[in-house]
Amino acid sequence: MMRRNMTKVIRLSIVSFVLTALISGAAAHHVSRLRDLHAGLNARLAQYDDPYSDFRNARYSNAGLIGESDEIKLGMQLHREVTKKYNLTDAGLTRVDRLGQQCARASLRPNLTYKFHVIQGREINAFSLPGGHVYVTTALVRLANENELGAVLCHEVGHIVARHSLKTLKKSNEYDDIAKQLGELTGVAGAIAHDLGVTLGQMVGAGLLTIHSRDEEREADFLGVREMPGARLDPQGMITMFQKLKRIEDRDADLLGSLFADHPDAQERIDNTRYEIARMRRK
Ligand SMILES: [Zn+2]
Repeated sequence: MMRRNMTKVIRLSIVSFVLTALISGAAAHHVSRLRDLHAGLNARLAQYDDPYSDFRNARYSNAGLIGESDEIKLGMQLHREVTKKYNLTDAGLTRVDRLGQQCARASLRPNLTYKFHVIQGREINAFSLPGGHVYVTTALVRLANENELGAVLCHEVGHIVARHSLKTLKKSNEYDDIAKQLGELTGVAGAIAHDLGVTLGQMVGAGLLTIHSRDEEREADFLGVREMPGARLDPQGMITMFQKLKRIEDRDADLLGSLFADHPDAQERIDNTRYEIARMRRK
């Protein structure tokens, strides 16, 4: 259980206990109201045990965001900017693509075309962009075994399923311009593509679309671990991946890219993943 909820849980438990005592002693006309209160409190207690209660019934689509065909165009433009900023390599790409496609097929957004890429670099990092583009660094590929690499890739696919970068984009000042230019865009050449490229290049440079809130990271962890069994991966790999990252964070934090620097506390992620694996086993 998360520490920040502990006091609340203790307080609710006491109220729940007092209500149980009251119900047994109360007059008949008060009993049913007290029972309702009691049931409500118990439901809230169960919710505090579940770190992912906010995401469990979520449905995902492009509603309220740019449509999927514009998202794919946006992804192509962003990928061009990524190739200007980073050196892509074929080293390890076959393995990354195989594991990544397994995650994608097992995800809640299996019909999008996903493209996996490897970036040359000593920083341990991974990120994703709209339209199905996922990037991992050679340092991460070297660090992770099969199930651990699969865990990172399933997490990144989770960001794409939940349209996190598109939601971030929507909040940016450039959103209206970008949406309009995407609608008018017919190819990679021409004035519109050039203007769009400049704006998107700045966004990639600033990491704007790849920095997520802690809640979005929790959601991607949740979606990722749930993809793993269907992707023929052992979800324990997510736990051992977090443990490896935690050791590096303690010893050599400079090696961790922005992806992990801003994430929820590693121990919390390990606890939450353990909770979800136990829950998946019960079903
Ligand atoms: Zn993430």
